[in-house]
Amino acid sequence: MKPSGPALYDAVLLDRDGTLVEDVPYNGDPEKVRPLPGAREALDRLRAAGLRLAVVTNQSGLARGYFTERDMHAVHARIEELLGPFDHWAICPHDDTDGCACRKPAPGLVHEAAGALGTAPRRCVLVGDIGRDMAAALAAGATGILVPTPVTRPEEVAEAPAVARDLPGAVDEILRRDRAVRPVVPRTGRAGTVLVARSDSAGDVLVTGPGIRAVAAGAERVVLLCGPRGRAAAELLPGVDEIIEWPLPWIDGSPEPVDPDDMRRLTARLAAVGADEAVVFTSFHQSPLPLALLLRMAGVPRISAISDDYPGSLLDVRHRVPVGVPEPERALSLAAAAGFALPAGDEPVLRLRADLPAPAVDRPAGDYLVVHPGASVPARACPPERCAEIVAALAADGHRVLVTGGPGERELTARVAAAGGTDLGGTTDLAGLARILAGARCLVVGNTGPAHLAAALGTPVVSLFAPTVPFGQWAPYRVPTVRLGDAGAACRDTRAARCPVAGHPCLSGVDPARVVAAVRRLVPG
Ligand SMILES: [Zn+2]
Repeated sequence: MKPSGPALYDAVLLDRDGTLVEDVPYNGDPEKVRPLPGAREALDRLRAAGLRLAVVTNQSGLARGYFTERDMHAVHARIEELLGPFDHWAICPHDDTDGCACRKPAPGLVHEAAGALGTAPRRCVLVGDIGRDMAAALAAGATGILVPTPVTRPEEVAEAPAVARDLPGAVDEILRRDRAVRPVVPRTGRAGTVLVARSDSAGDVLVTGPGIRAVAAGAERVVLLCGPRGRAAAELLPGVDEIIEWPLPWIDGSPEPVDPDDMRRLTARLAAVGADEAVVFTSFHQSPLPLALLLRMAGVPRISAISDDYPGSLLDVRHRVPVGVPEPERALSLAAAAGFALPAGDEPVLRLRADLPAPAVDRPAGDYLVVHPGASVPARACPPERCAEIVAALAADGHRVLVTGGPGERELTARVAAAGGTDLGGTTDLAGLARILAGARCLVVGNTGPAHLAAALGTPVVSLFAPTVPFGQWAPYRVPTVRLGDAGAACRDTRAARCPVAGHPCLSGVDPARVVAAVRRLVPG
C-alpha cells in the first residue's frame, strides 16, 4: 500500500568520485570507471521509489587541464551505462583558486541540481564521501548522509549529520526515514480531541511542530501540554487549539520534588480535557511512561509514545526510533505510528503560525545579522569573550550586528554587543525575537531555541554546535546551515548540561574568521 502524506524527499543528489564510482584522481578515461559495490541496485531502489537523481561533482581537472570536457562526457556516459540514467549532472569545473559559488563546500551545485529537478534543496538529500559534500548540503538546507571511505578524515566523520557504511546503507536510511513519517494505515475519519504533550524548552516544542501539525490535520481539536519554559514556543505553533502549562518533574533538568497533590491536580486537569487519545512526544533521553500513567488515570483510552522501556498497559501504540533521526522527523514518525500524516501541501519543515502576536518592538530596518550568545543549557553556549570577538569580526567585515538575549541575559548581551554590535538583550519576548530573526540575513547561535526559531522562519544559521547531543538530531532543520565547533571534543554525546571538559574546548576554539567565512557562504554578496 502506498504510504499517505507528503514524501520526505523529492530527490537524491550523489557525489561522483568515492561515492558512486571508485575515486581515480582526475579521471578522463571511461575505461577506468569502476562502480562501487551495490551502487546500481541501490540507485534502482531510489528510482523505483519515485525519487529523482542528480550527480553533484567537483571536477577541477577541467580547470587544471588534466582532461577535456569531451573526456568528462565520455566518462559520464560510461557511468550511466553502468549505473543507469541520472536526471541531472551538476558539475563544477573550477578549482579552489577561482572562488566560484559552485565548488563544494559552497552550496551552488545543490541549488543548481534542485532547480533542474524542479524542487528545493530542503527537499533533497545529498550522499557523499567527504566533509565538503556534507558542508555543501547543509549550506543549501539539504539533508546530508556521509558514506566514508578509507580516505575520509575522522573529523569529517565526527562532523557529519548522518553516517552510513556505504551507498546501499545510505539508500536504506533514506527510504526508511521516508516510510517512517507516513502512516501505512491512514485513519478512516478524524479523531476527536487529541491531547499532545511536549515538555521542556522552546526548542523542544518548536521541533515537535511538524508532528503536532500532522495530528491537527486528523483531529477535531488539539490540546498541547507543555512546561513553563516551552509555553512561549507553544503559542507560536500552528494547529494548537489550547495550551495546558504544567511542569513535569521527571523531565525538567533541575526538577522540583514530586508533590502528590500537584500530580492529582494535573490528573484532574488532564481528565477535564476529555481527550479521545493522547500522543506523548519526547526527546530520545526522556521517558513518556510517567505521563502515560497519569493519562491512563485521567481516563484517556488510547495513548501513543516512543518508548524503549517496556510500557506494559500504559501505551496502545509503542513506537521506537533509531538514534540519529532529526527530532522533527522523530516527532512526525510518532504521529504516523498513531495514524496521523501531514496533509498534502504541508511540507515537513518547522513553521510558525501566520497570525503571530503583535511585536513589542518593531523589526529593525535594513540588512543585519543576529548574534544570540546565550543558550538554555550552559554547555551549549559559546564563551562570552569568544562571542564578543565574533561580533567584532563580523562588524569589521561590514555587517550590522544585532545581539539578542532573554530578560535574564542582559549582562551577557551588553558585554558581547560592546564589541561592535547593537544590544537588544531583554527587549523582546519569543514572538518579538521571531520578528527580528525573520528580517535577519543570518543568525549566529548555539544549539538552543532561537536556532529552531530561525529554521522555522527560513533564516540561515551559523550553528556553534557543542557536540554534547547528536548534530544530526538537533541541527537547525531544513534551513541553510554551517556547523562550527569541535565535533570530536571530549564532551561528545555526554548530554552534559555543564561542560565537563576544562576550558569548554568544543566552542571556545571557534575561530571568528571562520564565522565570517560561514556568513559569506550562507549569505553571498
Ligand atoms: Zn565552480
